[in-house]
Amino acid sequence: MAMTVTATFAGVANVLITDGETSILIDGYFSRPSLLKVASGRLRPDERKIKYALNHLGMNGAGQTQPTSGHLDAVLVSHSHIDHAFDSPIVADLTGAKLYGSRSTRLIALGYGLERVPFHEIGHGEPFQVGAFSVTPIIALHSDGDRFPGEITEPVTLPASVKDYRTGGCFSFHIAHPDGTVFVHPTANYISGILREYGADLLYLGAGTAGTKSQSWIEAYWRETVETLGVKTVRAVHWDAFWRPLTKPLKPIPRPFDRVDITMSEFGRLAERDGVDVRLAGLWERETVLG
Ligand SMILES: [Zn+2]
Repeated sequence: MAMTVTATFAGVANVLITDGETSILIDGYFSRPSLLKVASGRLRPDERKIKYALNHLGMNGAGQTQPTSGHLDAVLVSHSHIDHAFDSPIVADLTGAKLYGSRSTRLIALGYGLERVPFHEIGHGEPFQVGAFSVTPIIALHSDGDRFPGEITEPVTLPASVKDYRTGGCFSFHIAHPDGTVFVHPTANYISGILREYGADLLYLGAGTAGTKSQSWIEAYWRETVETLGVKTVRAVHWDAFWRPLTKPLKPIPRPFDRVDITMSEFGRLAERDGVDVRLAGLWERETVLG
């Protein structure tokens, strides 16, 4: 029986992918503490905000706005920075999902006291099955100016500092389904040729800091992702100021950190040339993936 695969954006690089039976979340960052709070160095995930987001994604019983099974099966953490991994063990614990990520991701869960959350350490090119989805993590490069590089080496206890959340390896995800394939590439950088053997119907493409790069770099980034994957529908992610709550409209990351307007005008030009449909992923916007 053919199923409809859909994908919903939830800020930064959070994307929920479901076929109505099995649901997968990329990352897990819904608490979105203010910059002031981040500066305090005493951070704790906010369960109320996490539940608010899960409700919007149809993953928490009452208040569902999306046609899903209502339960989450997998949380895939692309890297262990705060804006990707912060809430991920709690999301997994609240929903009964399995957590997938690097050893660093595992140390976040352990520091939170969530050793009960089932965990799978991911590796480059090592596929695993979640329901009808075949997921392959692919090693990626963080965008320029990784402020907290390296691995997490001890459990991250709360309250935590943003500095505790080191990269711990960076992954993109090829999420293949008989009825449509999604590729999620959270961070704006590329490794030449690494996506050559993959294809996708819908690409969530990291835009963060791309607007500070040269035109030729953006062209190379497009070639190594959109063109190499042969994908015709692209939604930019990691474009929003991630210290604003999800109860307010998303706003682009401001100068001098980024120029989302420049990124999108370059993407727009390349998309027109290549016959690609590209725009910013909108908050809670659900895409139907046509395989
Ligand atoms: Zn990062």
